[in-house]
Amino acid sequence: MPDEKKLNFIEQIISEDLKSGKHQQIYTRFPPEPNGYLHIGHAKSICLNFGLGQTFGGKVNLRFDDTNPVKEDIEYVDSIQEDIKWLGFQWENQVRYSSDYFDQLYSWAEQFIEKGLAYVDDQTAEQISATRGTPTQAGKESPYRNRTPEENLKLFREMKAGKFADGEKVLRAKTGMDSPNMHMRDAVMYRIKHADHHRTGSKWCIYPMYDYTHGQSDYLEGITHSICTLEFENHRPLYDWFLDQIYDPKKIRPRQIEFARLNLNYTVMSKRKLLQLVEEKTVSSWDVPRMPTISGLRRRGYTPLSIRNFAERVGVAKRNNIIDIALLEFSIREDLNKSAQRVMTVLDPLKITITNYPEGKSEELDAINNPEDESAGQRKVPFSRHLFIEREDFKEDGNRKYFRLKPGKEVRLRYAYFIKCEEIIKDQNGEVIELLCTYDPLSKGGKSPDGRKVKGTLHWVSAPHAIDTEVRLYDRLFTDENPDGHKDKDFKAFINPNSLQILPNCKSEPFLKTAQPEDKFQFERKGYFCVDKDSTLSKIVFNRTVSLKDNWKRK
Ligand code: ATP
Ligand code: MG
Repeated sequence: MPDEKKLNFIEQIISEDLKSGKHQQIYTRFPPEPNGYLHIGHAKSICLNFGLGQTFGGKVNLRFDDTNPVKEDIEYVDSIQEDIKWLGFQWENQVRYSSDYFDQLYSWAEQFIEKGLAYVDDQTAEQISATRGTPTQAGKESPYRNRTPEENLKLFREMKAGKFADGEKVLRAKTGMDSPNMHMRDAVMYRIKHADHHRTGSKWCIYPMYDYTHGQSDYLEGITHSICTLEFENHRPLYDWFLDQIYDPKKIRPRQIEFARLNLNYTVMSKRKLLQLVEEKTVSSWDVPRMPTISGLRRRGYTPLSIRNFAERVGVAKRNNIIDIALLEFSIREDLNKSAQRVMTVLDPLKITITNYPEGKSEELDAINNPEDESAGQRKVPFSRHLFIEREDFKEDGNRKYFRLKPGKEVRLRYAYFIKCEEIIKDQNGEVIELLCTYDPLSKGGKSPDGRKVKGTLHWVSAPHAIDTEVRLYDRLFTDENPDGHKDKDFKAFINPNSLQILPNCKSEPFLKTAQPEDKFQFERKGYFCVDKDSTLSKIVFNRTVSLKDNWKRK
């Protein structure tokens, strides 16, 4: 058990329940609706639920909340499982589905009817909504509310048998129309939907609603703590009411606990909105590296550890707030700084010729793989007369404070030599196309031969040895801090048109030749990069995961 002082409020509740003997072992669940890919908000919930299981030696179920056949898809069922496993978690036994319990839920619904706790309502969805009242005004009872249990049972069975069209009838709980809680005003339990379900096929044409399904499914699985986000706080009385009607005191009674959902700035976090971006082709798929989906972050180069650390840092709050995306970036920098191999890639190559280095000669220089990890060792980097440096590392009129390459001045090439710029070659438009430089053979390894100081150190690659690579740089997907928070404007109005920048002509050191998708590197001075699955035999594609420093400028 964790240190008492550091427990968050959910851990405190659990700790008490174990101490008092209310539960011998805790059982939580992660209950996604398979209607889209998981996003970083879900990762928070996954880390919380599975984390509690690990902390307290409990069990965790994965349960697909699959009560809406129209929006659900097997593609999502698969991707969700993959994402959870990738994050490093494993659920108890087989995957559960709310649809596993459709028979049981139906039979309980018949019992509700027999006990006079539920009735079939013929009102339309609009009528039901119009008669629900307001938070300060009671709702109006349905004219069908006082049907006899016999009549209700007959109608409900006919609903199940497919006698009625979608929307013609619903089953409602008799929770009353005057509760101050709107959710407690004769909640709908079942609706008619003539649609095939991805697991139950055409067996059902009535489907149970979320509120009725969720708590009963928790109960059937022996869940002790049913953790959900704050917007379900007002649903809790209904959750409890449904349980009250079937609860056997010899069994475990699940308790719903709400916490604040994770919100990130510059992001939208709703499967429905992310689906819209995919369907309207704003992005080409759910896993593009700019998406806040788990699969997008993975493709971008985020590690499971960085996401788990982020979730831990965010903590568990009782009030909604917005987390700065810089915290997520901090977590991946922290992880990759320790684990990523350093290499050199020039993103915007400028040719250099070392005029006093013999044509055709080359040598191999020692480079350190990771200064943070001695066990990562060293590698050889080829050096020759023809090199590339970063175009932005040369300035013809660089002033006193410019320590990179400028005419007549020296810089250090990382792991190699001091070089001095002797001559600039330009094309007819006046653009610099090549620099002629000399090197100091005595400065091998980048060490000063005579104590003379050189401030700038540049990354570089040897031209004849370089491999061609493509680099994709990313910016925020949205230009607004809270794209969802504008009454007068749709979130799509804030899409950043420049969130993807493709650099097709980069040059990388030959070490990267064998890099495989998902391999991660630090490109010296340029950031952390991850091999993309779009890579081909002739060209490796890299995604920039994050820059080395937080250089995001706020307006
Ligand atoms: P969305 O609106 O993004 O589709 P959802 O809540 O409808 O989210 P579900 O598949 O129903 O998605 O969610 C599965 C679980 O993940 C639920 O317990 C839900 O409370 C939790 N969850 C969803 N979004 C967040 C979030 N932003 N932060 C924390 N937990 C979340
Ligand atoms: Mg949902």
